[in-house]
Amino acid sequence: MLTHSAKTKLREIVGPAHYFDSPEDLICHSYDATLYQALPEAVVYPGSVEEVAAIMRLANDERFAVTPRGAGTGLSGGSLPVAGGVVMVLTRLNRIVQINTDDLYAIVEPGAITADLAAAAGRHRLLYPPDPASQSVSTVGGNVAENAGGLRGLKYGVTKHYVLALEIVTPLGEALHTGSTTVKCVTGYDLTQLIVGCEGTLGVVTKIWCKLVPMPEHKESMLAIFADVDDAARTVAAIIRSGVIPATLEFLDHATINAVEDFKKIGLPRQAEAILLIETDGRKAAAQAEAEQVVAVCCENRAQSVQKAANEAERTKLWQARRGALSSLARLRPTTILEDATVPRSRVPDMVRGVREIAQRHRITIGNFGHAGDGNLHPTVLTDVRDKDEFARAEKAIEEIFDLALSLGGTLSGEHGIGTAKAPFLMREIGQVGLDVMRSIKRALDPNNVLNPGKMLLDGPRGT
Ligand SMILES: Cc1cc2nc3c(=O)[nH]c(=O)nc-3n(C[C@H](O)[C@H](O)[C@H](O)COP(=O)(O)OP(=O)(O)OC[C@H]3O[C@@H](n4cnc5c(N)ncnc54)[C@H](O)[C@@H]3O)c2cc1C
Repeated sequence: MLTHSAKTKLREIVGPAHYFDSPEDLICHSYDATLYQALPEAVVYPGSVEEVAAIMRLANDERFAVTPRGAGTGLSGGSLPVAGGVVMVLTRLNRIVQINTDDLYAIVEPGAITADLAAAAGRHRLLYPPDPASQSVSTVGGNVAENAGGLRGLKYGVTKHYVLALEIVTPLGEALHTGSTTVKCVTGYDLTQLIVGCEGTLGVVTKIWCKLVPMPEHKESMLAIFADVDDAARTVAAIIRSGVIPATLEFLDHATINAVEDFKKIGLPRQAEAILLIETDGRKAAAQAEAEQVVAVCCENRAQSVQKAANEAERTKLWQARRGALSSLARLRPTTILEDATVPRSRVPDMVRGVREIAQRHRITIGNFGHAGDGNLHPTVLTDVRDKDEFARAEKAIEEIFDLALSLGGTLSGEHGIGTAKAPFLMREIGQVGLDVMRSIKRALDPNNVLNPGKMLLDGPRGT
C-alpha cells in the first residue's frame, strides 16, 4: 500500500499539477493495448531527470512499485502496474533536443513521439528508420524499452540498432550515462543494449541518443496480389534469395484485406487470398532496378498481378492499408489479441499454414498480417472475452501458435515483448538457466524489486 506520507512526498516532488490519484485518473492509467488491466494507487508525471531520480529513491525508502509508462500502446502489458504503487508517465519529457547532422544522431527525451522524431530528422534529409505501425502515438522511450520493430526492420533493423547512448535513472535512483555517440565503443559491458528491450524493469530512460542515416533518394512501392496464400508466403523468401533486401516486405491475408477495405476503403483486391506490400529504396536507379527484380520474382511465384504506386498519394494509400490492419481487424469482434511470435523467414509458409489450421481446429477467427520479411507475422485472434467457451478456445489457439513458432526455430516475441501477457510461456523458450541469469541481473540492479515488478517472470505474481 502506498502510504499517506509517500503520496504527500510524491506530490511535493512533481508538483500538485502533475500528481493524480482520483479513481478516474487511476482507471485511465490501468490499461495498455492488451486486454489486461491493473490499477495503480497514484500517477505521477515527472518533469526532469532529478524528479525521476527522487521518485525512485522514495520508492526504495518506502518500498512501493514504480511502473514507467510512455503512450500506453504496448501489446504485452509492460506498462500495467500489476503490483500496484505508482505509474510514472514520461510524456512531459518530450523534447527533441538536437539533430546532429555531422555525427548523424538525434538527442531526444523519452516522451517524444516516434513520428515527431522521424519528421525532425526528415527536415535535415536524415532518416530515423525504426517505424512501428503505432509511430504516430508511441514514444521513443517506450520503443527503446520494448526494442520496437516496425515496417523497415528487414533492411534497416529495429530500435536497438539506432540507440547509441542513454541517460537512465537506475532502480535505486542514480542517474547513469551509458554508451557513446562515437561510431565505435567497446568500453566495458554494453549497458545501453542491456537497457534496450528490458521493458522498463532495469532502468527509467530519461534521454536517448539515436543514430540517424541519410534519407534514401527514391522509393518504389508495390502491391503484389495472390490467389493462393501459400504462393504469397513462399514469395517472401524467394525475393531475398534473389539478392534484393527490400526496405519493407509486409503480408496481409484475406481476412485482413477485407477488414481494411471495410474500414478504410482504399481499393484493395477483396478477392485476393493474400497480398504483399513491398518497398525498395536507395539511389533512384538502384531502387527501380530492385523493384523490377521484385516484380519478376512475384510473377515467377504466381502473383496474379503486381501494381506499382505511381505517385506519393498512391504510395501513402498502400501504407495506410498496412498501418490500419490492426485497427481494422479490431472492429470485427469485442476482443482482439494480437500476437507476434516470429520464425526464420524460410519458415513463413509453415507458420501461415499452421496458424490457419489452428484457427480451423479451434473454430476461432484469426486474421494474419505483418512483417513477413522479418518472419514476424501478427496472428490476430478475434474473439469475445465474455464468451467463456470461445475465449478458452482462443487462449488454447494462442498457446499452440507459440508452440508452433518455437517448433519452427522461432521466438515468442519479435517486437512486442514479454511483459505480463507472455510471461507464462517464457520458460518454454529460455529455460531455467536463462531465467536464472535474467533474475540475477534484475536483483543486482533492483535489489528491492521496485521498478516494474511482476513482469517477465523476473519475480512474483503474473498480475490479473
Ligand atoms: C496499432 C498498434 C500498432 C503497433 N505496431 C507496432 C509495430 O509495428 N512494431 C512494434 O514493435 N510495436 C508495435 N506496437 C506496440 C507498441 O506501440 C510498442 O511496443 C511501443 O514501443 C510502445 O511505446 P509506448 O510509448 O506506448 O510505451 P508503453 O506501452 O507506455 O510502455 C511499453 C513498455 O515500456 C516501458 N517504458 C515506457 N517508457 C519508458 C521509459 N522512459 N523508461 C523505461 N521504460 C519505459 C513500460 O514500462 C512498458 O514496459 C503497436 C501497437 C499498436 C496499438
